Amino acid sequence: MPRLYLASNNRHKAAELQQLLSALKPAWTVALARDLDPAIAWDESGDTFLANARIKAEAVRALTKDCVLADDSGLVVDALGGLPGVHSSRYAGQGGDDLANNAKLRAATSHLEEAQLTARFMCTLYFIDAAGEGHAFTGSCEGHLTHTPSGKHGFGYDPLFVPSGGTKTMADMDSVEKNAISHRSKAFDAFARWLQG
Ligand code: IMP
Repeated sequence: MPRLYLASNNRHKAAELQQLLSALKPAWTVALARDLDPAIAWDESGDTFLANARIKAEAVRALTKDCVLADDSGLVVDALGGLPGVHSSRYAGQGGDDLANNAKLRAATSHLEEAQLTARFMCTLYFIDAAGEGHAFTGSCEGHLTHTPSGKHGFGYDPLFVPSGGTKTMADMDSVEKNAISHRSKAFDAFARWLQG
């Protein structure tokens, strides 16, 4: 059974990817980077999602000859010149503080009409195959920001983001509904289709 190492220690992402790749023929096994090295770390100093995904993939590939997949994602707000973008997880300073990040985003956009707050979630995957060659895949989800946070599901900026074509925020959606339209699912799907040839 072919195997890939996911350059992330997020078990939810690994489970989502494993579910998708289990349906392929042959099915792929998804392992986590920390299975190779429990102390593995990478810096995310790139200025694009692709650069960061590549940094992570190459850090893991240095430890194995198996295939490696990395992802990088974030929220791009047009009126903020693309911010928070690659800084999404540490927009308010400390990495992964969703409440602080959302508060900073609301403060930065409070003077604008919602119609001006066009935005998208973006995800880039970088896959290094067994021969060491790199391949990139992307997915995006268009929408706009709302001034009225809503919803209990998801994580990150989900309560502030309304995907195009509806009125619900991403946090109003359960995981099945979100996965049908999310940037990450689209990128994972593109990757799975490519793997399947
Ligand atoms: P990562 O690429 O998984 O490290 O995500 C980077 C950051 O982008 C996260 O910490 C969130 O702030 C934001 N982000 C990425 N994907 C999503 C999403 O599906 N919903 C909400 N926020 C997200």
